[in-house]
Amino acid sequence: MAPVVVGLDVGGTKVLGRVVDLGAPTVAVVEQRMATPVGPEALVGGIVGLVADLTERATALGSRSPVAVGVGIPGLVGRDGVVRLAPHLPGVTDLDVGGALSAALDLPVAVDNDANCAGLAEVRIGVATGLDDVAVVTLGTGIGAGFVVAGRLLRGARGFAGEAGHLQVERDGLPCPCGKRGCWERYASGSGLALLAREVARDGGAPGLCGLPGAPEAISGEAVVALARTGDPDALAVLDRFAWWVGVGLAGLIDLLDPEVVVIGGGVIEAGDLVLDPVRRHVAPLVLGRGHRPLPGIRAASLGSAAGAIGAALLAGESAL
Ligand SMILES: [Zn+2]
Repeated sequence: MAPVVVGLDVGGTKVLGRVVDLGAPTVAVVEQRMATPVGPEALVGGIVGLVADLTERATALGSRSPVAVGVGIPGLVGRDGVVRLAPHLPGVTDLDVGGALSAALDLPVAVDNDANCAGLAEVRIGVATGLDDVAVVTLGTGIGAGFVVAGRLLRGARGFAGEAGHLQVERDGLPCPCGKRGCWERYASGSGLALLAREVARDGGAPGLCGLPGAPEAISGEAVVALARTGDPDALAVLDRFAWWVGVGLAGLIDLLDPEVVVIGGGVIEAGDLVLDPVRRHVAPLVLGRGHRPLPGIRAASLGSAAGAIGAALLAGESAL
């Protein structure tokens, strides 16, 4: 019998927890969300409470008790389970999340970067199943990236590898919550798409964009994609600029890692080829050796918003047991 584990995806605004039987990891035995508690003690205490609630609900349904916990955290997570820095979790620095949770829950706990968890899920059971060299990039509030190299997650010497969202792509560019300027995620995330659209709407002359809810200052990336789906030329032009920014970063990652496949996730990718086709078009001329090498396929992620929690559960099975 496959073990039953808990997978948790900690986001800047909410935490998603799932009890999963590793024999069928895409199916949640039970699932529960909570608002992300603010501050280190509240975060650890909140997660302990969520695991207890999930366990109680799962066993009431006849499930076996979970034997391990996996946690994905948006930030720099060391191989020792210590979260060094998490820009979207105020006050969470140098926090031994793994140690605190395993002491409180009396269970083995594995902690990793949230994008690493999503990457692991897509490679183990998602759209890149069975492939050994894959880049998984999630375009959300920021950009999360997880890389599988020769069949293993790329973690680096201390666990901090893969922070592609904070590669600087523009000198003196937009400020980033990480403290630097011009990071890739300021341009090529879902938030970046919204910023590009707001800039155009502010200048006027783009009636579709100017008519979006909250325009210009509260336009969302999803609203731009929805407008582009109707054929609005200004929304399509913004999407094309956005796709160029995505392409610049992806081309660098392809030069660096030579993946078989690049998987892209996040809310803006729900529009599928409307976004992915311009990305593919912009990536091609930016990769070294155009015309002399096959380019990796660029695919939409398949596990949606549960990828992080599913990956954390898989991580618990692979690392904590
Ligand atoms: Zn940054």
